[in-house]
Amino acid sequence: MNAGLLLDLPHLEDSGAEGIGLFRTELQFIVQPGLPGVKEQTEIYTRILDEAADKPVMFRTLYIGGDKILPYQDGSRTPDENPAMGWRAIRVGLDRPALLRTQLRALLHAAAGRHLAVMFPMVAEVSEFIVARRILDLELTRLARRNVPAPSKLEVGVMFEVPALIWQLEQLMPLIDFVAIGSNDLAQFLFAADRASPRLSERYDVLAPGFLRLLHSLVERFNEAGVRVSLCGEMAGKPLDAMALIGIGFRSLSVAPSAVGPIKLMIRRLDVGELSAYMENLYDSADHSVREKLKDFALDHGFVV
Ligand code: PEP
Ligand code: MG
Repeated sequence: MNAGLLLDLPHLEDSGAEGIGLFRTELQFIVQPGLPGVKEQTEIYTRILDEAADKPVMFRTLYIGGDKILPYQDGSRTPDENPAMGWRAIRVGLDRPALLRTQLRALLHAAAGRHLAVMFPMVAEVSEFIVARRILDLELTRLARRNVPAPSKLEVGVMFEVPALIWQLEQLMPLIDFVAIGSNDLAQFLFAADRASPRLSERYDVLAPGFLRLLHSLVERFNEAGVRVSLCGEMAGKPLDAMALIGIGFRSLSVAPSAVGPIKLMIRRLDVGELSAYMENLYDSADHSVREKLKDFALDHGFVV
């Protein structure tokens, strides 16, 4: 499931989710009166890992800027004309490495002796990942020098939200353990359509042939390379869209806690082989009929999505 606050943690048990596929760490920064330091962050991440117990948590590093503004952030900066495409997420972390180091240090401290999965958001070029990974390695070296126990297992991934990365998969895949596809931003940038614009909300469908074809090829590439892949955008939480994602090959989705039950219900009624074969014929549609055709498939197979 997706989470971002300590309040979300009890849902891990009652929703039936197998873990947290996206922990939005920025929410902790937004609810605080000021920038939390290493100690405060360590306490928060420790509680999250404690409460998640043996279930995995994929922490996303700081994702501020764009639609996620810190109330105490420096307001003197000239705002970007297109904030979603502006100075945000890993771009902020790379330009303000102390901010990223502080967070990585806190995550490493909290995960001493246990499993840590950390992912960098909005990576547009492999070189950005390489620099971020180097910062993480600096923190690991620092831990070792001080004899602080390291995580028992460390996995490092990226959020796949920027289309430019599609053409650097060969360089990226050997460097990462997992990838989480952020379909909200990926669709926003692919269609050049503001995700918050009410005028555009009906115009482009994530169940469009082009977008599905892209997701299908991404899943295949990651599977072939042995890189774990999941999808954590809003579409994964809608039963019909989730059905399509499973049809094209996804086996790991991260959704709002309230969506876990309905998605599981859909999965239990689904014949994946039959759906995948049915979907093969949909990629070539030149219109907006895919959603309706998938609804027909669901109805024909006795479930409502
Ligand atoms: C996404 O872009 O799909 C995503 C999960 O990140 P956010 O919605 O927080 O931008
Ligand atoms: Mg995003």
